[in-house]
Amino acid sequence: MMDWDALTAELQGIEVISDPNQVAKLSQDYHTFSPILQVQLDGKKGDLVVRPTTEAEVMQVAATCVKYRVSVTIRGAGTGNYGQCVPLHGGVVLDMSRMQAIRWIKSGVARVEAGIKLAALDKKARETGWEIRMAPSTYRTATIGGFIAGGSGGIGSIMYGQLRDRGNINAIRVVTMEDEPRAIELRGDEIHKVNHAWGINGIITELEIPLGAAYPWVEVIVTFESFMAAAHFGQALGDADGTIKKLISIFAWSIPTYFGAIRQYIPDGTHAALLMVAESSMETLPGLVQEYGGCITYERSPQDAGKGCNLAEFTWNHTTLHARSADPNITYLQSLFPADKNLQMVDHMYRYFDDEVMMHLEFIRAGGRTVPAALQLVRYTTEERLNEIIRYHEEHGVFIANPHTYIIEDGGRKVIDPEQMKFKQMVDPYGLLNPGKIKALMRS
Ligand code: FAD
Repeated sequence: MMDWDALTAELQGIEVISDPNQVAKLSQDYHTFSPILQVQLDGKKGDLVVRPTTEAEVMQVAATCVKYRVSVTIRGAGTGNYGQCVPLHGGVVLDMSRMQAIRWIKSGVARVEAGIKLAALDKKARETGWEIRMAPSTYRTATIGGFIAGGSGGIGSIMYGQLRDRGNINAIRVVTMEDEPRAIELRGDEIHKVNHAWGINGIITELEIPLGAAYPWVEVIVTFESFMAAAHFGQALGDADGTIKKLISIFAWSIPTYFGAIRQYIPDGTHAALLMVAESSMETLPGLVQEYGGCITYERSPQDAGKGCNLAEFTWNHTTLHARSADPNITYLQSLFPADKNLQMVDHMYRYFDDEVMMHLEFIRAGGRTVPAALQLVRYTTEERLNEIIRYHEEHGVFIANPHTYIIEDGGRKVIDPEQMKFKQMVDPYGLLNPGKIKALMRS
């Protein structure tokens, strides 16, 4: 029987939460977007939540948990979608959200503690003429540590690609779960041992990330009579190298019916593009819109940023959030379509599934090209049908990062790199970090 009082006594001076309701709440994330994960993760929770404020405290927690052989599930803001920070085997939930220091921002690079919220970092960076390169649509709440350990890309990925692309993370510092925990700094390509590792390969305490030049962004809605005209416009805008943009999101009708605050700008039956374009590039946008038969229905200037609604919060997985609040039977897919300027497979899937799989494209930069990623909305009926839809996409060359699994390899990863496994064995020799999330080390 685990002696939680003894463990807590060894964490003196560090905030520990033991109230069962609070612990249950802090054991949750947004896996509820998936009807499959909802069932699989129901009732899973930790025993205690610990909230360190310094790296020294993180080391104390790590040493204590190793001593008692207690599992540790790391948590940022708990906005992940795959149950990444839901503990499968109880133990300590290590809440990193109190570690929010900005160490420095200079020459387009920031060094920060892992628990800082992306919006807070962005605000500080913008004061110096820089901004974060990419952010999930949850940037107001999500932490940088959680984004790097659990996310992939988002607003800004049309310019800079994804977190996994070389050059988007400079350094990651992690605390190990050895008998005598150490802090190790990984730099350059080494960072991939921890990037998108769901908190299984060390506790991230600090990070160094390159920034991008801060532009004044104009938010724009363009509507189209045909979905494929909207999609081709998205591709063309992505390919327009001289036009600086941060967001190209394309929505097939009837997704805009879920967009409460901006619904008035999207006429019934039309398909919408939600954009963020640099003010200096706005001169040429109307010409491109006209070429594809679109109509600009909304523009918010950078001076009005912060007033009214924020377009980014209707894009990426916020689209799913809005749709689910109107219809909880809706779930989603995460896809990457093959690079093809003619968008033939997008057209095929749009027609083939019709309203059962509603098309939501997010154009990103991948391998130097503009490619449509997608977070399609699915009208869920059964697990069998959902798997059939996934299989059909895969058989047609559409990559699916399955968001309906809490196993890292079965989601976007498919295979865990041997280097990552070697690192895992070194930093977490007792397998205490987020156990049950990798196939290779499954507990019986
Ligand atoms: P958490 O959910 O708390 O954690 C995520 C993972 O990281 C967990 O495995 C956790 O154990 C690990 N972790 C957290 N902190 C640390 C640390 N310090 N050290 C080691 N491991 C750690 N994701 C995208 O990539 N792009 C999007 O556009 C996007 N949009 C979203 C929209 C909505 C509405 C929602 C609900 C989710 C969205 N997500 C998106 C998923 C999620 O918001 C992001 O991945 C987010 O960045 C996670 O940050 P977090 O602080 O909430 O992390």
